[in-house]
Amino acid sequence: MDVIIIGSGAGGGASAWALAQQGIKVLLLEAGPVYDPYQDYKLSQDDWELRMFPDKQQHKLKYSFSALQPLEEKYQSLRSWNHIHGLFNTSTIRKAYKYHHVQGVGGSTLHFTGEAHRLHPQAFKMQSQYGVAADWPLSFAELQSYYEQAEKLIGVSGDSEDNSRPRSSDFPLQAHKPGYASRKILSSSEKTGLKWVANSLAVLSSPYDNRPSCNYCNNCNRGCPRKDKGSVDVTFINKALQSGYCQLQSNSTVQRIISGKNDRVQGVEYIDAQGEIHLATADIIIVACGAVETSRLLLLSAADNNQGLANESGLVGKNFMETLAWVSSGIHPENIGSHRGLPSDIISWTYNAPDSIPGVIGGCRFSTTAAESNLIGPVNYAKRVVKGWGLQHKQAMRDSFGHVLSIGAIGESLPDSRSFISLDNDKTDRFNRPIAKINSYLAESEVKRLLFMADKCREILTASGVENIFEEYGTYDYFNSTHVFGTARMGSDPQTSVVNSYGQSHRWKNLFIVDASIFPSSGGGESPSLTIEALAIRTAKYIGENFT
Ligand SMILES: Cc1cc2nc3c(=O)[nH]c(=O)nc-3n(C[C@H](O)[C@H](O)[C@H](O)COP(=O)(O)OP(=O)(O)OC[C@H]3O[C@@H](n4cnc5c(N)ncnc54)[C@H](O)[C@@H]3O)c2cc1C
Ligand code: SF4
Repeated sequence: MDVIIIGSGAGGGASAWALAQQGIKVLLLEAGPVYDPYQDYKLSQDDWELRMFPDKQQHKLKYSFSALQPLEEKYQSLRSWNHIHGLFNTSTIRKAYKYHHVQGVGGSTLHFTGEAHRLHPQAFKMQSQYGVAADWPLSFAELQSYYEQAEKLIGVSGDSEDNSRPRSSDFPLQAHKPGYASRKILSSSEKTGLKWVANSLAVLSSPYDNRPSCNYCNNCNRGCPRKDKGSVDVTFINKALQSGYCQLQSNSTVQRIISGKNDRVQGVEYIDAQGEIHLATADIIIVACGAVETSRLLLLSAADNNQGLANESGLVGKNFMETLAWVSSGIHPENIGSHRGLPSDIISWTYNAPDSIPGVIGGCRFSTTAAESNLIGPVNYAKRVVKGWGLQHKQAMRDSFGHVLSIGAIGESLPDSRSFISLDNDKTDRFNRPIAKINSYLAESEVKRLLFMADKCREILTASGVENIFEEYGTYDYFNSTHVFGTARMGSDPQTSVVNSYGQSHRWKNLFIVDASIFPSSGGGESPSLTIEALAIRTAKYIGENFT
């Protein structure tokens, strides 16, 4: 049996590995190029801070936005600002900043921080227990062994004593020790009532599987040059290729999935780096392009009803959920060496359960974020932290460097009929095909959650000894997403979902989806990759058991 996987990110990479382990032949088609960690992530160069994650993709799949919502005066405390530059968005309309993702072998995990989270067990029952979003058609218990397999393959480091999530075995590697800055926050926990734990990270705390341990350079979002960060390219895809059952084809963009008779898909049409069109056929097709591009591809692959492939429910593209986020940064009186260490090395799950924030359903989490907010090098201090010019500025730089403390929160994003992905019929890619359009709306519940997240971030900073907050930003006045979900929801009922619990289309039985499109709810701020990978491994097992 042959399988084609479209997209090599968290979902595509994990399913390629899990299929190859069963001796199933896989063709992994990826729109972007291969990244070589030793060559492409130039952290040892003088200008490292000016280099963000390198964008190697020549013909990037573009996306657009519909007009976003007006901003309200009463939510002034949620505006993004900096003490030197003032308001980031001076208009009265929410602005579109970015859908952060990578097109390349390994997908967005190349750029990711490395958080490796299991979802809160209650997050699987958002409709039946809390009356919002939809229930997952499987439980935490059914996913547990797949979480374990993914953690083991990646080499996740975490505190096995931490009981935030059920576990039936220890983390493969022991937790990283908190950095100096995080210790300031740990010492504030009595004042804030928040419990902090070592974050579970796809970052090696000791050598593992021929990869070295982390050197704490704090630059995971720029791409890890040592391969100790467990992005999908150096873990799942590497192993899939070693098995001999997986053929990888980078710079190959799938344009269309071809459907055939008897409710079966037949193959794909893709374009290679030279612009040549190819057809590839397989017994099974797995889509893993991320929640924006997966819905676009399905909508562009219209079958007999002309509404998009696997769109019998009309839900492809609907229920789009984005990242609800807030970051507050301040100056600590002590030099806490906050430029060093590991991003998000500690985390608080105190308000993560769906019913833990007073007055609104949906949880959130808090973690340290100096690295994610790019406050670890002198250029950004000079631009964003320290005012003025000349000698005074130089002295202020010396006095401030290493003093920044940042706290970030990520919260639940609930589905809303005004948030969805559609085809943009006015803007096309280089092959004249409509690009994806992001339609985003923050409902009142999201704004309430954001208010709670922002207030808590400020409270944590103050309790940790920060006297001056100099910058805050969040997703109230900007669309700015790293985690996206929901556009091909899974469920038991074909009327209200696109795929079943195995990511299998309700109608097209040999078509599967294994990325975060299938999440019926987003979780209360958990990072999604580990859950995507666990689901993808479960799908691969189902395919092996039922199609061979
Ligand atoms: C800065 C940043 C930090 C993050 N931090 C974390 C974190 O700490 N922990 C965590 O769990 N998650 C994190 N995330 C999110 C995480 O990376 C994504 O949720 C995850 O990678 C999504 O997996 P996916 O398989 O859905 O899509 P992706 O990983 O985005 O992969 C999709 C792939 O499909 C390819 N593709 C798209 N269309 C086509 C096509 N038509 N033909 C062929 N290929 C196609 C794309 O090029 C891409 O490589 C972060 C993301 C970013 C950007
Ligand atoms: S902090 Fe560790 S995992 Fe992150 S880029 Fe540096 S060496 Fe890699």
